[in-house]
Amino acid sequence: MPRKPPPARPERLVVATANPGKLREFRALLAGLPYEVVAQGDLGVPSPPETGTTFAANALLKARHAARATGGAALADDSGLEVDALGGAPGVYSARYAGEGASDAANNEKLLAALAGVARGLRGARYRCVLAFVAGPEDPAPLFAEGVWEGEILAAPRGTGGFGYDPLFWLAEREASAAELAPALKNELSHRGQALANLRAQLEARARAARRP
Ligand code: IMP
Repeated sequence: MPRKPPPARPERLVVATANPGKLREFRALLAGLPYEVVAQGDLGVPSPPETGTTFAANALLKARHAARATGGAALADDSGLEVDALGGAPGVYSARYAGEGASDAANNEKLLAALAGVARGLRGARYRCVLAFVAGPEDPAPLFAEGVWEGEILAAPRGTGGFGYDPLFWLAEREASAAELAPALKNELSHRGQALANLRAQLEARARAARRP
């Protein structure tokens, strides 16, 4: 009887993040794909400076940096909050809105001050996440995936879950802030969850194409 070939060894996929919460989300959403997901920090790879002016540029810069340092496939994300009344700020500068190394509390305080006096119906905002995947250090055709999560900015924080701007991010259809959602529900709805689902579909299509004779 012919023997079945052994299953292909999963390829290592380095995730360019230092955030354990994001790593957990990446692992869950990539489950079932032939990748062994490893954090760049566990391989001694530091985060590069985010010098891009777009989410896509920063995501690609982080993915390429991890791929060059490790010689294999890499995945990175870049995300932030865009507030309509502030012309899309803080955008790519969301993590350092109140200054380099600013705490979530300082960023949230600055956001509330910037929106003081802005009426309820004019406080629209969205989280945006862009993912970049490279199959290797010099991959000439990186994959990109985007997710967008619409909401509005509250006048005062609500909830203790999540991170970053979540206590100020109001979801009218859920009657809750992002910091009041159960983590699994946030992952399902969020900009990052949407971008990962989109990327997963692209990776599955790529794997199917590679298997075709
Ligand atoms: P980065 O993608 O790690 O560069 O994060 C950008 C910044 O955007 C974070 O530090 C947060 O301030 C904000 N941000 C991105 N995603 C979220 C989220 O899901 N909740 C709250 N804040 C977020």
